[in-house]
Amino acid sequence: MSGSHFHSVLVTGANRGIGLELVKQLLELREPPKWVFATCRDPHGGRIQELRSLASKHPGLVILQLESTDEASINAAAKEAEVHLAGSGLNLLINNAGVMPPSTLESVTKEDMLSVYRINVVGPMLVTKAFLPMLKAAAKRSSRKGLSCSRAAIINVSTIGSSIAKPPPMVMFPVISYRCSKTALNMLTRCQALEYKDDGILCAALHPGWVKTELGTDKADLTVQESVQGIIRVLSSLCEEQNSRLVDWEGRIVPW
Ligand code: NDP
Repeated sequence: MSGSHFHSVLVTGANRGIGLELVKQLLELREPPKWVFATCRDPHGGRIQELRSLASKHPGLVILQLESTDEASINAAAKEAEVHLAGSGLNLLINNAGVMPPSTLESVTKEDMLSVYRINVVGPMLVTKAFLPMLKAAAKRSSRKGLSCSRAAIINVSTIGSSIAKPPPMVMFPVISYRCSKTALNMLTRCQALEYKDDGILCAALHPGWVKTELGTDKADLTVQESVQGIIRVLSSLCEEQNSRLVDWEGRIVPW
């Protein structure tokens, strides 16, 4: 972690799974961010107790309502974050929220494909648009040169199952709507990287490993703690070399 400090971070889908653990471990850093914005769909629902209890101990943790398929909720979250940031900008945006409903080539429907695309691709696209002015402000204000998560970055949480160059076999990973959506998310990442490089914003897709969460199931290889320890290490080391790439939780570049 030497030399890197995230002044402000926003994590979507932060009430459980990888998103919640990211928030926890960011707050436990020796030099924690001043602001951690944790978004969830239902801040008053039953599935955010852990996040709420963290927020009661950490004044810099702000819970924001954000539903990826609802542009008004995304824009309202951006407005609220802007008030807290007071012109200092947002350093790190982690588009983590996502879904993986079962869908094989035989069972998948038009509705499945479109609904997963809306959450996994349109969501991160809209979230990034809404927070872009804050990311640009952070990059501009930073005394750091080059690209890094300490300066300004968009991290889109993807999966190795999205790879066209090295796809896992269908029997191992038959979730067609999910795989297609994450491949599209990779292209979104690449386009964002091409567009925002000159603004000083790093853009990368991230594979968190196969992680024991509701999405990853309890058969997965990694605990959420192991995955997120790796992710935070990787985030603190990302630079020009990994810009516009798919990187895994151990820092390896995955061919996409
Ligand atoms: P979980 O199912 O544990 O958590 C998913 C999170 O996304 C929840 O907070 C959920 O909120 C939120 N979410 C779902 N739909 C929406 C929506 N429409 N709007 C806003 N938030 C939403 O998943 P993981 O933690 O495992 O996954 C996190 C990310 O990591 C995903 O993008 C996933 O694709 C990726 N990933 C995970 C792997 C794994 O093995 N676990 C492997 C590769 C990639 P709510 O509680 O309200 O449903």
